[in-house]
Parts: sequence; C-alpha cells; structure tokens
Amino acid sequence: MLRRCLLLSALGLIALDAAAQNATPDAVAALVTRIEQAVLSGDRASFMTLAAQNQSDGAEVFWRQMSPAPDQLVIKERERRQLPDGSRQLVLEMLTVRSDEGRVSTWVARIRPAPNTEEAARWQLLDLVQRSAITGLYRLSLDTTRQFAVSRLRLVAPDLELAMNAGTAFLATVSDGATALVLLGRGTMTFTPPDDAERTQLRLFSGNIRLQEEFDSALLRVNPAQIAPIVASSTFTPTPVSASDVRRALRLFEETVGRTLALDLNDLSRDRWSLIPPPDDIVAEVRTNRFGTLTYARVQSQLEDVTFFDRTAAKSVSSYASPQKLAARGRFYSEDDAVEYDVESIDLEADIDPGRSWIEGRTSLTLVTRVPVMSLTLKLAEPLAVRSLESDEFGRLILLRIPGQDSVLVKLPATVGPNQRVTLRVAYGGRLLPQALEPSVSADPQPLSEQDGVAFTPEPRHIYSTRSYWYPQSPVLDHATARLRISVPSEYRVVASGRPTGTSEPDAAAVVGPGRQRARTSYHFEADRPVPYLACVVSRFELVSENSVDLGTGASLSLVVQANNRQVSKARAVTQQATSMLRFYTSLLGDAPYPSLALAVSESDIPGGHGPAYAALIDQTLPTSRLVWKNDPVNFPDYPSYMLAHELAHQWWGQAVNGKNYHERWISEGFAQYFAALYAEHERGADTFAGILRRMQRSAIEVSAQGPIALGHRLGHIRSDSRVLRAILYNKSAMVLHMLRRLIGDQAFFDGLRRFYGEFRFRKAGTDDFRQAMERASGRNLESFMEAWIFGSSIPRLKVSRSASPTELSLTFEQLGPVMPVPVTVTIVYTDGSNEDVIVPVTEARVSRVMPLRGTLRDVKIDDDHAALATFQR
Ligand SMILES: [Zn+2]
Repeated sequence: MLRRCLLLSALGLIALDAAAQNATPDAVAALVTRIEQAVLSGDRASFMTLAAQNQSDGAEVFWRQMSPAPDQLVIKERERRQLPDGSRQLVLEMLTVRSDEGRVSTWVARIRPAPNTEEAARWQLLDLVQRSAITGLYRLSLDTTRQFAVSRLRLVAPDLELAMNAGTAFLATVSDGATALVLLGRGTMTFTPPDDAERTQLRLFSGNIRLQEEFDSALLRVNPAQIAPIVASSTFTPTPVSASDVRRALRLFEETVGRTLALDLNDLSRDRWSLIPPPDDIVAEVRTNRFGTLTYARVQSQLEDVTFFDRTAAKSVSSYASPQKLAARGRFYSEDDAVEYDVESIDLEADIDPGRSWIEGRTSLTLVTRVPVMSLTLKLAEPLAVRSLESDEFGRLILLRIPGQDSVLVKLPATVGPNQRVTLRVAYGGRLLPQALEPSVSADPQPLSEQDGVAFTPEPRHIYSTRSYWYPQSPVLDHATARLRISVPSEYRVVASGRPTGTSEPDAAAVVGPGRQRARTSYHFEADRPVPYLACVVSRFELVSENSVDLGTGASLSLVVQANNRQVSKARAVTQQATSMLRFYTSLLGDAPYPSLALAVSESDIPGGHGPAYAALIDQTLPTSRLVWKNDPVNFPDYPSYMLAHELAHQWWGQAVNGKNYHERWISEGFAQYFAALYAEHERGADTFAGILRRMQRSAIEVSAQGPIALGHRLGHIRSDSRVLRAILYNKSAMVLHMLRRLIGDQAFFDGLRRFYGEFRFRKAGTDDFRQAMERASGRNLESFMEAWIFGSSIPRLKVSRSASPTELSLTFEQLGPVMPVPVTVTIVYTDGSNEDVIVPVTEARVSRVMPLRGTLRDVKIDDDHAALATFQR
C-alpha cells in the first residue's frame, strides 16, 4: 500500500513537470496572476469574470476571505494535476498581509479552458476551496516614534527578576498591543533556580548558585496582556525621542528579535515573521556586562518550562519545570506527553552521496494522534530542504520551518481528533554533514604524527543517526517499525537499523538527486520490531562473515560482520566475541530484542562506538593516532573489548528499552556500561572486574559533585568536558546498579532486571518504573537508595572504627555527611593466608557489625573490591 502511494506521488510530480513545460506562455499562471491583481485592487467585478458561469460559489467564499483588499498578496502554485474530465487541479499557497499581520493559506482550485473563446489560452475557475490556514503571524517592527522613561521597573517570572531604577524603553506593537519591549539603562538581573542540581549547574557557569548580574539592555517578548498594565503604570512615562537611543534600541531589536518565536515562510516572504507568545510566557534576551547575552525563557507548552541559556557560548545552563508545571505533569514524566502523536511505522527511501554529504530522501510516516491536533511538529535537519509534503488523508499541506531549530511545523486542514491515523509523505534533500560519535574523546589537537613518513588516514565512514535529523521524525525518540531503502554509489556498503532484506539497482525515477551518473546499489532493510530511531552508516565496508548465532533460548540471531579493508582481520576476531556477548546478555534477560545484528568495524582517530537497533559500529584507532585517551573514564586498558560489549548491550538498553526523557538516559548508558562489566567478569574473571570497578570508582568520585546521574546529557555540558558525562552517566550509573545488586542480592537483582526489561521492551521507562520492578523483586523499599544515587550528587564519607578479640571482629561505620545507602565489602585476612568477604549494608547514619573470626586475624581490608562509591576515613 505504502509503495503504491510513493509511486503515485512520483507520477504526480512527473505530470506536473510536463504540464509546466508545455504551457509557454503559461495560461494557467496567467490566471493566477489575474486572481492576484483582482484581489489587490479590490475589484470584485473583474475577479468574478474569472469564474466559469454558474460556478461562482467557491469564488464568492474566496472573495469574502480576501476582503477588504490586503496590503500584500503572494500566491505560489505548488501543484498542478490533469483531471480525467480535462480540467486541472491547482494547489495554491497564499500569504495575505494586512498591516503587519500575515495569514498563510492553502487553496485547491479546479480550472478549465474557457469555452467559446478565441483565446485558447484563457482559463477560468470552476471551484476554489480553502484547505488550511495559519494565522497570528506578525512582522514585528520597533516603534521608533514613541520613547518612554522608565523608573523603578520590576519584572518577574518564575525564579527571575529584572529590575531597572531608571532607563528608557521602546515597544513593538501589533493590533492587540505591545508584544516586544526594548529596555535601555542600568538594570539588575537575578536568577535563582530552585534545586541543588540546577544550582550546581549555575555555579559551574557563573561561580555562584544564585546569579545576580548588571545589564545595560534587554529585549522582552511577552503577550500584549502582560505589557499593557506596565505601560499604563507610573513606571512608564512618554518622553521625547532621542536619535541615539533609537539607534541603540534598533540595533538590539534587529539582532535579537528573530532568535525566538520565528517562522520561516520560505518563498512566500523573505521577511521576518514572528508568533505572539501566549499569556504568561516570556522570553528575555538580557545583555549583561560579564556574560554577554543571557536568555531566560518561560514557555508553558514545554515539559521543562523554565530555561536559561548562554547565548554567547550557545550553552544551555538551566532547564527545569516550574512549581506549576511540576504540579501539572508530575515528577516522573514522559517526553511523549509534549508530542501530539505517536509514530507507528516509517518507510524511508534515501539516496546518499557520501562524497558530497548529500542526501535526497522520501519518507512516509504513519502517525497516530494522541490528542486533538491542528498542527504537527516534525524534526528535520535545517540544511535539508523540503521538496514536498503530502498526506494520504489531506493532500498537500502547509509547512513552515522554525529557524535555527531543525523543526518543521505542519498545518492540518482541520482539527484531527485523537487516535486518528495520519500518513505524511515528505520528500527532502540537501547537504547534511555526517555526525561524530558519542562518546567523543578529547583528542590531541595536533596533526597526526608523520615521524616515520607514514601517516594513515582513517577510511571515512558517514554516520547519520539520532541527533542528526537526517529524515523527518518525531521530536522525541519514538519506537516504530520501519522499512529502509538506502542507495549509495556501488563502491560503498550500508549498515542500517533493520534486518538486511536484499539489494537492488535503485529505481532511477524514484529518487531525484544530483550525482546520479555513477553506478549505485540500493540496500534494503526491515525493522519489524520497533526501533526508537533510524540510523545508517555508509563506508567502503567488506563483508567479513555471516553467521547464525544460537542464543541458547531456542531462538537464533543473524550476525553479519563488515569492516573497512585494514580492519578485516580484527573483525574476524571480533565476530567470536560478539557471538559470546550476545549469548551472555540473552541468558541474563531471557531474549534478544532484535533478530539480526550488523556489526561494522571502522576506523577513526579516536576510539568510539555506536549501538543503534539491529546494528553496532566500533571504531578502531590507527597506529598513528595521537590521543589523550589513556585517562578517559571509559578507557579500560585491561579489557580492550569493553566498547564492543557496551555497544552490543545497547540492543537491550537504549534501543529495546530507553529512558522516557533525558533525565533517564542512565537506563541506556549506565545499564549498557554495567552489562559490559558483567560480560568482562564472565569472560575474564573477578580480577578484571575489580580492575574495571577501580577505574569506574575513581572517575565517578572525582567528578560526582558536578551533578546527579539524572542530569543526563547535561553533565559536563557547561564546561565542555565530556569526561564528566562518561564518569557520571556511564560509570557512576553502572556502579549504582552494582551497589543495588549487592544490597538486594543476585536473585532479586536479576529477577527484577528481567521483569523490568520484559515489561518495557519496545517502550520507554523511567527511574520510577525501574524502582518499582526492583521493589517487587526484592520486597524492599528502595526510595532512599534511588533518591540518593540517581537524584543526588553526594558521595558518602564513612568513618570506620574497629576492635577485635581473638574470636570476634567488631566494625562501626559512621556516615559523616548526608546518609546514603552503600554496601561495603569487608575483607577479613587470616594469618594462614585465607580470607573472607562480608558485605555490610551501611544504610543508616551508624552501622555496627560483629563478625565471628575463624582464625587468627592478620588484617582487615575495607572496600578492597572497589565496589562502594564512598570515601573512607580509618
Ligand atoms: Zn553507549
């Protein structure tokens, strides 16, 4: 069904091209021009002559919509089709501007050549029907004819105060009143985020947990209802206009007003169009002396409605829910709640030219609405131009881009109720650079060593995955089934998120793109189990092996290994390991979520990996690479297969199950990291495992104060130190899972994990869901454990005291800081060389334990296995 639709739309486009070419001079275009002229001149009589006799109903409706005559009208013909009865159907997109307010609408016109006329070229309207419209667009300009003196101004928003004792102000006004305000003069900005995690981020940014800064100018975007009382109050008094103030105000206005609440009207208008913020929303662009421009925004439609942004460094400092928002949405929330729909299935066809980083694609998304909707938001990388957007249900739709946000707004013709299926077909194309891998290690900025005269250049590999928005998609990760057909020049191969289902010569008519003269191969994939996002890697891969892996559960998994030429022998070794890892993870969780895995061994200057569903990529470094990698938190020199083990574990954690918002990313990275450690222990034994824990422990303790695990990808962001992310999100999370296991025991821990995985396979989960699964499995309340370790950033400090008699050892642990549940291993060493491990759960402020001795005591070691995230005073 989907394939037929794609084919039909391809035919439609061809018909359009042919029609456009035949008609020169274009009589249809002439009709459109006459409509435009009649509307602009307000000449109803001449407009009505364009309609066919007795066919003027549609024209009447159109005329009423266009009256009184707008100041500006732009009509673009988007589509032309020949209908069976000889008439033609046009899709027209229009911008009408009255004063500074714009309206974009789509109309479907049916036209035919006028009968009984000598002029064969004359066409007339049979019908004209509006399909959809977007209103509330404004061309904002600063009113430089009115200036105000400001005294004792105080503006407040959640956790923000802007105060100005004396200064000047200018306004930008629309029909409902002023919606933008420029302030000039000395003011003070105070920002006080509410909780420890956000205060810590603010301290990392500014040096203080409370920000109080002087500013010299600011631009505020607010709803007219909020500005009106301020302008009417005694803080604002009209004052003579000063030319130098006007210049300053204009400069600030022009520089900042297009940054937010903007829409790009494509070829309808090159002007800057803005939306008006809803009541109680506010965006403040504040120019401070010390930090340059800081942006505070309160946007109630967002799940984290308060954000604070460093414009100069392009860094997000704060993002959280205000108390009102928190009360409405709850503490544990799903990012899905902010999206109007759920993606059910994706059909993607793309032509990728790696040499020019060019993508030309067609994607169908089948969505199911969650709520009544009038418009849909999609993500698509800004460099990719949308060639066409249609839906099976509504035909061609209006699309507007949100500048700077990789976002596309799709207007539906009418409100669509909940639980309705909508299929969108998007054709798009452009130059999109492939993305770097995460974790990206801090590489030595110097060029590669050329001492021995040989410097290898890594074989290029082109990755398009999550965050690159290489196809139209939901703004959030969204499990969906998919079919992909990706064509590339024939010297390349493709690894993508789906089971390979074959290759073919691409259909030349199916994808229109430049650079098509070379031989191409199309790779086909099918993801019949839901995947959270689609990814693909294009490189000069060679096929290394194809195996069926017996998973030990009665099921098998097809493992295909590919590698760049220099990595082929390495890849052969990796095949065995991958097989063993897949079996091990399946034994822990009961099944493998995806029936096939394409493993690619590639090259890079820095180590890295990626684990999308159905695939894994491992970058090998070349001998000439020079890196500052040795001390990276996720470098485990005693266990070089760690990255492979981590990436394969992502099939279960991060793909089949992932976090329901960015605070829950530890469910992907921390779980994958812990599973990799478990595999290392399984393969190499306790010493290797202890070595891994030692490195994890050291790195996690060192930077733990920079934020809790629940901060997700924001860890390390402000200071651009991705090692902090890896030390906390990866390593600390893995150790937290290990400590949980030691507190509740292996049986309950692995039962709980299996239960959690089984319940949330192909869904999103949160810390609350994980806690419930583990509480059910262990019969214990784990609230204080989760609060301390996932939402807190402290590391417990334990004072240990001991006394021993010939038959007993008595130990006391005292928590010197806030109480955090932590299991500590006590190793009793006897004079005969034997030893005994006892795990002491230090779950309270003071815990004492008396242990019987079975020999002569030589030594007592505390945390010798490095399994406790704690520091000890002895
Ligand atoms: Zn990972």
